[in-house]
Amino acid sequence: MQGKIALEEHFAIPETAADSLGYFPEAVRSEVAARNADIHGKRLALMDEHGIEMMLLSLNAPAVQAIPDKARAGEIARKANDYLAEEVQKRPARFQGLAALAMQDPDGATRELERCVSELGFRGALVNGFSQAGDADTVLYYDLPQYRPFWAMAERLDVPFYLHPRNPLPRDARIYDGHPWLLGPIWAFGQETAVHALRLMASGLFDVHPRLQIILGHLGENLPYGMWRVDNANAWIPNRNKWPAKRPLGEYFSANFHLTTSGNFRTQALMNAMLEIGADRIMFSTDWPFENIDHAANWFDNCAISENDRIKIGRTNARRLFKLGND
Ligand code: MN
Repeated sequence: MQGKIALEEHFAIPETAADSLGYFPEAVRSEVAARNADIHGKRLALMDEHGIEMMLLSLNAPAVQAIPDKARAGEIARKANDYLAEEVQKRPARFQGLAALAMQDPDGATRELERCVSELGFRGALVNGFSQAGDADTVLYYDLPQYRPFWAMAERLDVPFYLHPRNPLPRDARIYDGHPWLLGPIWAFGQETAVHALRLMASGLFDVHPRLQIILGHLGENLPYGMWRVDNANAWIPNRNKWPAKRPLGEYFSANFHLTTSGNFRTQALMNAMLEIGADRIMFSTDWPFENIDHAANWFDNCAISENDRIKIGRTNARRLFKLGND
């Protein structure tokens, strides 16, 4: 398919480049570093080769979220955003930006989101899970009350927020002891991000800000498979779901979430996502540079879905959500 738009696509700046390398064996680290540093070279050539018209770019992970010093985190976020704005300006028809945000400082993140959208023309934000704030052991999830003004700004600006994975802290990862292979994209990323998304749903955030739109990668971090059970487990027990939100969580999933195909190039999993959330809320992505563009595009271009759905998922859903103009 020509004209695809991809939106979980990363780059690094020198200050964050090393964050990506720990996930990869020594043999491919130089390749990962080169992919992360490049925007207009090999990346653009692969986009041309595989029918990707546009990438919405975002900083690598965990980057800003793993800098406990709030001032330093804010400085790195602004630096990454200014660099991204310059790169987008070189080819705005091929690249657009998603903001990095130092959520350690809710007020600063709110101002930076407004700056990125209003002044730099970014289309939304991508944040790498919880933020470490003040010290490395203090973690903040965004269902906490201090984030309500931030969410009010995101709703007012009418831009989506991509909740991207990171690993849990070692103290919260003891279930993986002895099995380090479970960390990262194989399992822990999805588990960590799905729980964060459920916290947002259950908190009542979407009762207060019903127009907020959250994006999850990897075909929903396993949530499409689990949402029904979240609302229905032990349904014979009266009044058992004691969360602050007013509605069953699946209703927020259907109204306030979008999914991308990043790193999950599996037709059976896509079918499940389409049956749970619908083709209008799924968008093509690759997860470059950590997954291959050819793997994503060759699968998506040929998977057994209708051509109408392929066009929605490959292009028009993203154009609508990010206000990229009508075809
Ligand atoms: Mn990613």
